[in-house]
Amino acid sequence: MYVPLNWQRLGILLLICAVLTACGSAPGGQSTTGSNDGAAASNASPAAGTINAIATTSIIADLVKNVGGEHVNVRTLLTPGTDPHTYTPMPSDVQAIADSQIVFENGLGLEAWLEETTENAGGERPTIAVSNGLTPIEGGEDEHEDEEPAASAEEHGHDEHGDDPHMWFDVQNTIRYVENIRDGLKQIDAANAGSYDANAAAYIEQLKQLDAEIVKLVEAVPAERRKLITNHDTFGYFAKRYGFEVVGNVFEGVSTEQEPSAQQIAQLVKLIEEQQVPAVFTENTVNPRLAEQVADEAGVNVVTTLYTDALGEPGSQGATYIDMMRYDVQQIVEALK
Ligand SMILES: [Zn+2]
Repeated sequence: MYVPLNWQRLGILLLICAVLTACGSAPGGQSTTGSNDGAAASNASPAAGTINAIATTSIIADLVKNVGGEHVNVRTLLTPGTDPHTYTPMPSDVQAIADSQIVFENGLGLEAWLEETTENAGGERPTIAVSNGLTPIEGGEDEHEDEEPAASAEEHGHDEHGDDPHMWFDVQNTIRYVENIRDGLKQIDAANAGSYDANAAAYIEQLKQLDAEIVKLVEAVPAERRKLITNHDTFGYFAKRYGFEVVGNVFEGVSTEQEPSAQQIAQLVKLIEEQQVPAVFTENTVNPRLAEQVADEAGVNVVTTLYTDALGEPGSQGATYIDMMRYDVQQIVEALK
């Protein structure tokens, strides 16, 4: 007579497991510290003095980990290699935000999906745009850009009209990101302010060295060959800081989920030939097919391995922000010099 009861209980247990699995290990819900995933995130309160922080992208998560150290569990909403422009949030993201005390986003329209997700999570917590205080480059190659007031331009996201969100490709901007992360953590966890100050200062030292290293590395590329054509418009800040020209993008003026027209592709091929651009670069977050086609038609090399809007998998050459930048610059220099 106990058998039906046991089966019923088993069913309930399986249901609970399914719910917890959905919250913890679905593709978009990766924990980056191991101490805050799945059941632990839902049921257990964090260890005394430990903050649960959300980072939208793996790049921001890496910065938050460097500043937060042992006091912060960082949970990343987007797994490595995921395109933040086209991301669709999952129920596990809502749960992760509900379990958190602070959210870090890039801002500038990169995570247009975040606000609604945060509202669905309920509760009160600061959401810090790590690009706060920096002056963005106006994005968008749209011909109507100059005719529209700035307020309406912002609503469309960066791919069509808005400001360019890819600020982390200038390491000096990333230093500001780190300062904003430090100040956000101090705001909600004043008891560990000294630790956040010290961690941020040490990491900023590493970033300054990285910036100097990049300046040195790009010296190998002659001025007339410092021309970038990438899949989407990710290298504006990089070009400005390190002395390159962005000649064009495969996804020029369109979102990464739309396809450029055959005419746009033909124009890009013509541009590569006219300007003698040495190579085309594609990225880990966008399908390389069109860029490969463009490079093939223009008869130039294609480099398919850059990390741009997301880090690579753990153990890859783009596993941390610093690794990613160093690796990308080496690839760019190698292809253009
Ligand atoms: Zn992007």
